[in-house]
Amino acid sequence: MAAELKKLSESRDLTRIERIGAHSHIRGLGLDSTLEARAVSEGMVGQQPARKAAGLILQLIKEGKIAGRAVLLAGQPGTGKTAIAMGLAKSLGEETPFATLSGSELFSLEMSKTEALTQAFRRAIGVRIKEEAEIIEGEVVEITIERPVGAGAGGGGSSSAAAKTGKLTLKTTDMETVYELGGKMIEALSKVKVQSGDVITLDKASGKVTKLGRSIGRSRDYDAVGPHTKFVRCPDGELQKRKEVLHCVTLHEIDVINSRTQGFLALFTGDTGEIRAEVREQIDTKVAEWREEGKAEIVPGVLFIDEVHMLDIECFSFLNRALENEMAPILVIATNRGITTIRGTSYRSPHGIPADFLDRLLIISTQPYTEDEIHRIIEIRCDEEEVEMSKDSKVLLTKIGIETSLRYAIHLITAAALACQKRRGKVVEMEDISRVYSLFLDVKRSTQYLMEYQSQYMF
Ligand code: ATP
Repeated sequence: MAAELKKLSESRDLTRIERIGAHSHIRGLGLDSTLEARAVSEGMVGQQPARKAAGLILQLIKEGKIAGRAVLLAGQPGTGKTAIAMGLAKSLGEETPFATLSGSELFSLEMSKTEALTQAFRRAIGVRIKEEAEIIEGEVVEITIERPVGAGAGGGGSSSAAAKTGKLTLKTTDMETVYELGGKMIEALSKVKVQSGDVITLDKASGKVTKLGRSIGRSRDYDAVGPHTKFVRCPDGELQKRKEVLHCVTLHEIDVINSRTQGFLALFTGDTGEIRAEVREQIDTKVAEWREEGKAEIVPGVLFIDEVHMLDIECFSFLNRALENEMAPILVIATNRGITTIRGTSYRSPHGIPADFLDRLLIISTQPYTEDEIHRIIEIRCDEEEVEMSKDSKVLLTKIGIETSLRYAIHLITAAALACQKRRGKVVEMEDISRVYSLFLDVKRSTQYLMEYQSQYMF
């Protein structure tokens, strides 16, 4: 399975680089060190009170105080609810899984509602697996240096003496390793005045050593500077250099790989079908073993459920239970509805959410954008999509955004860029915007059209 996990995490990295999604410009919540929202930062524009509130939630998550609760983002369509949830996930770290699900999807997938919810939860739980790999000659690696007993304390100067006399040792290894590194390396080490506990980069080809900082002893801290080297002795007595590499996959991906009926490729087609409970139980046991052996860590992610008013009472009771699990991701739900009926009942409640579930929620509201903010978001999207657009066109697109919706205006960027390309232009001009505006209807115009011509449609 290790090879498959490796293949999986590598191919996912590749798709992540290539795809420009609707929210790919969001790189965080755009907060300063006091958790105040900057006007424009990390791809985020405006919506400051909501972003600040999300920042406080981030703090709660980091302090481990969010267990059993969830966040509700309530606001009109296109006010950045998904963007904020994405910003939250990004602020938790690049590796933090972010899974999305739309309430209505639960009723259209070819599986039970609870299976679809279970899969969504497991897509939002990451497993960071540690593995050892050979170091390729000449590669830059990080190592942790420990001063041997009796090599003298204090000051980088004495470490250089230690290096020259071959008394420097590397963590998890013995004296011979120093000789393994060779004279060039020892000389380089003495120049940078390394001390016990320093983390350095070593380029074995040039013998160049760069000091990266100091480790404070937990394996997690090395992640910030990359994998660190381990030297292990093989049965034939030879020393081999190895490094620790980390793969991050989700529990759902491990489930699918191990599900005999589906297999690896199903992850790419999305056709995973239902996964048997026994498979999940086996995976949970295996992951628990890896955690105990220090081979894996759980990375709780963010599960974002949009259109949460579409969920019925059974789904809410599932969520209530799922939140109690110790591996549960941070649940962020969103809706643009006010007081409405809870599906599966005849009761009405705020956002169509049952009272006991509402009680668990931290509620954040999002507000409509100003003209300036829409303009700024359009500029950011043009940069993200590498579309050059004239000033006038951006102003026109902003007006369209106000009249119709932000999402419609954003969609027109790509379409207008294609229209521009077709006339062999380099910069998107007003004519391109007008052209695509007349080709693609927004919801308001589409509704108007339907009302005018409804007699010609089938009933
Ligand atoms: P809905 O209720 O229809 O699901 P939403 O509130 O989730 O809408 P988004 O999908 O987040 O809205 O926003 C629409 C588009 O605008 C997305 O491409 C999003 O990334 C972008 N966007 C929204 N708000 C911001 C913001 N504050 N800063 C930058 N981009 C934003």
